[in-house]
Amino acid sequence: MPVTTSHPDVFASIIPDETYPIQNEHRGPSCYTHGGPNSAEQYQWAGKGDPEGGDVQYIPGSVIRSPGFRRIMSRGLYSFADPEVDHLSYQGQVWIDSFNNTQEAALSQLEDDDEAELESFNCVGPGPRNSGSLCGEASFMRRKDLETTPPLCARHKEKYSKYFERTEDGTWQRISPAK
Ligand SMILES: [Zn+2]
Repeated sequence: MPVTTSHPDVFASIIPDETYPIQNEHRGPSCYTHGGPNSAEQYQWAGKGDPEGGDVQYIPGSVIRSPGFRRIMSRGLYSFADPEVDHLSYQGQVWIDSFNNTQEAALSQLEDDDEAELESFNCVGPGPRNSGSLCGEASFMRRKDLETTPPLCARHKEKYSKYFERTEDGTWQRISPAK
């Protein structure tokens, strides 16, 4: 199994072909687009506390294990839902509790945007050196802000914003290498 950087025990135990109940911890509705801004693979949640239970959605393990989704979970926007309620077999409650507890501090970062519908977009910053690929980490934005701001993760936002321009088809292209 691949070794993850932040929470190896949790994500290594996620099985790609199974689905897991994921709780939206955000007060407003939330949407995750898997595979880039133009992908049709979208998962939507109602705001936390939704009376009809729309704040928990079953998400494929393959998505949960992806770098973008792991990044979101590390920031506390989503958490693993209670397996007792959702009748799914986990390896145990202990690691879920310990994982979710680490997210409480991260939640405060999102409170300023509580009423906004945040979505995650894959960072278009550079990937690992000489790989030729893109960073792909999650960038939290409102979809309408994509018109004026390239999707860049926290690590790339400051340094790279001015090196992108929006093309006619609505994607962001690198126009110059950052120093
Ligand atoms: Zn990045």
